[in-house]
Amino acid sequence: MNNVLRLIDKLEKEHSLTVQEYEELIEWRDDEAAKILAQKADSVRKGIYSNKVYVRGLIEVSNICKNNCLYCGIRSGNKSCERYRLTKEDILECCEAGYRIGFRTFVMQGGEDPYFTDEVLSDIITEIKKRYPDAAVTLSLGERSYESYRILKEAGADRYLLRHETANEMHYGKLHPKEMSYSNRMNCLRNLREIGFQVGCGFMVGSPYQEESYIANDLKFIEEFKPDMCGIGPFIPHKDTPFRDEKAGDPSFTCYLLSIIRLIHPPILLPATTALGSISGDGRERGIMAGANVIMPNLSPQNVRRKYELYNNKLYSGDEAAEALESLKKKMLSIGYEISTERGDIKK
Ligand code: SAM
Repeated sequence: MNNVLRLIDKLEKEHSLTVQEYEELIEWRDDEAAKILAQKADSVRKGIYSNKVYVRGLIEVSNICKNNCLYCGIRSGNKSCERYRLTKEDILECCEAGYRIGFRTFVMQGGEDPYFTDEVLSDIITEIKKRYPDAAVTLSLGERSYESYRILKEAGADRYLLRHETANEMHYGKLHPKEMSYSNRMNCLRNLREIGFQVGCGFMVGSPYQEESYIANDLKFIEEFKPDMCGIGPFIPHKDTPFRDEKAGDPSFTCYLLSIIRLIHPPILLPATTALGSISGDGRERGIMAGANVIMPNLSPQNVRRKYELYNNKLYSGDEAAEALESLKKKMLSIGYEISTERGDIKK
């Protein structure tokens, strides 16, 4: 048996490899290894979640951000970005429309907009939970203090997505301005876990300066941290950022990593991300077949969708739109999966 097949076997049995072994698994990848990994990941996922694909309604609450991450289209330094912020009423309307279609998770994502204080957010979260007690509320609003996360949890939020972006400190420094730090990012993740959130981390595939050895460290971090969720998608350049001329990440490699992550932590909730769908016409389907089990259609009001432009050509219509859930259902059925509107918590 060749080395890669031996590593895939070991990963399937032990859910763990050394950093060196992860690096080999990445370095020696080929089509055959990708196929075998995807088959194993798919069968492991089906053993836990059957063929269900959970949907989350994504509400992009604000593209105002105090941070200046070098890769991101809504960075504070991008003066061409047309800024917006949703009101409490807007957000509740999104939830109402989403609930009617069947969504039982609402994800509030946005830039680090100082308007969204603990008080403002608690009020919105409390109201969503009052109106829809059977729905989960997920937040993805960046770095906040321990106390702030605690207040938001107390208000009723269930899950928090905060990609670690890279598990290599030096690499983190090349992607972010000097005011941001790797240690604070990692600290936030630990705090969220301690407070009792279901926590999601994640990273971009093919971000500038990324090396394969760094991805091996990302995988080791995921193995050790055991997040409840993990968002990984290809890096895609945005025309108004310093990384405008950088190459986009590879969708096939992204799928390869999705399969590995499924085998590392079998019950993980793993989205086939918008970035994967944006870069490749059938990216979403390929992600699901590689072991992902979550899709996050856009529930934001139609008139703001194009403004939440993290990267060039981000999908915001077609199957990306929540209204097109029916079409998404058909697409998933055609590849043997079933869209589930359950709340979809992690099965531990
Ligand atoms: N502000 C929050 C935070 O920092 O977690 C949430 C919003 S942030 C825009 C969500 C994620 O988008 C980031 O964690 C990053 O990985 C991803 N993202 C930003 N720019 C991207 C790009 N150019 N290509 C792919 N993904 C990108």
